[in-house]
Amino acid sequence: MALVNAKDMLTKAKAGKYAVGQFNINNLEWTKSILQTSQELQSPVILGVSEGAGKYMCGYKTVVGMVNGMLEEMNITVPVALHLDHGSYEGAKACIEAGFSSVMFDGSHYPIEENIAKTKELIELTNKLGLSIEAEVGAIGGEEDGVVGGGEVADPKECKMIADLGVTMLAAGIGNIHGQYPENWAGLRFDVLEEIQKLTGSMPLVLHGGTGIPADMIKKAISLGVSKINVNTECQLAFAAATRKYIEEGKDLQGKGFDPRKLLAPGAEAIKATVKEKMELFGSVDKA
Ligand SMILES: [Zn+2]
Repeated sequence: MALVNAKDMLTKAKAGKYAVGQFNINNLEWTKSILQTSQELQSPVILGVSEGAGKYMCGYKTVVGMVNGMLEEMNITVPVALHLDHGSYEGAKACIEAGFSSVMFDGSHYPIEENIAKTKELIELTNKLGLSIEAEVGAIGGEEDGVVGGGEVADPKECKMIADLGVTMLAAGIGNIHGQYPENWAGLRFDVLEEIQKLTGSMPLVLHGGTGIPADMIKKAISLGVSKINVNTECQLAFAAATRKYIEEGKDLQGKGFDPRKLLAPGAEAIKATVKEKMELFGSVDKA
């Protein structure tokens, strides 16, 4: 199945009170592991690509070529969206041109008027091409690929303003943070999420920084209208731990253990296990 935009899968998720995972990709192993797991579990999925990861993979066209090739050669039949994560205005345009099916424009660092103007322009473009678009209000805390957010809590009225422009999905800061959560983290602001949900109605809401949020908070967030959850760091930690174990056990020194197809296999399996765990938690299994 060819790439699809994220609109249908998120509308269904919102109505069905579950969430679709966005899993960020970094290379072939990452992408293959996520697609294999989605197909096995019959779950829709969103592949996230940050601008930094796009550069790392040689550019957006390479990413589109790799993903499209895999969809065909792995016989993937579940809905898959290829989505730019935390895109700049220029990055969003470049991904649209390269063949992404979905983009996020992160204008949260602009004054709200400028965020609105730029979001509007990109909505016109994505609507014309049948792509989905995510906007963000209230910067999400922590650091992602050099983009540092202050961890603001979004103003529900500003969320409503951006939602009304016609975006497909809306990310709102509710105390969530990218990367690992500090010990003294105060938790998600469910009062704010409830307020946003009341004002934005059927708009699918997006929770960034899914790594390390306790399962009960994830479930509560889904019950309050979150239908897309971004997972990035958790796959990285799982991959690194499995690779470390392989090397520390000296397996790369045994026989042909140095073969990259063997060396990277435990990490790839660890990503699959993480993705499976998240899809089960989010409730997207068998929702393809
Ligand atoms: Zn994010």
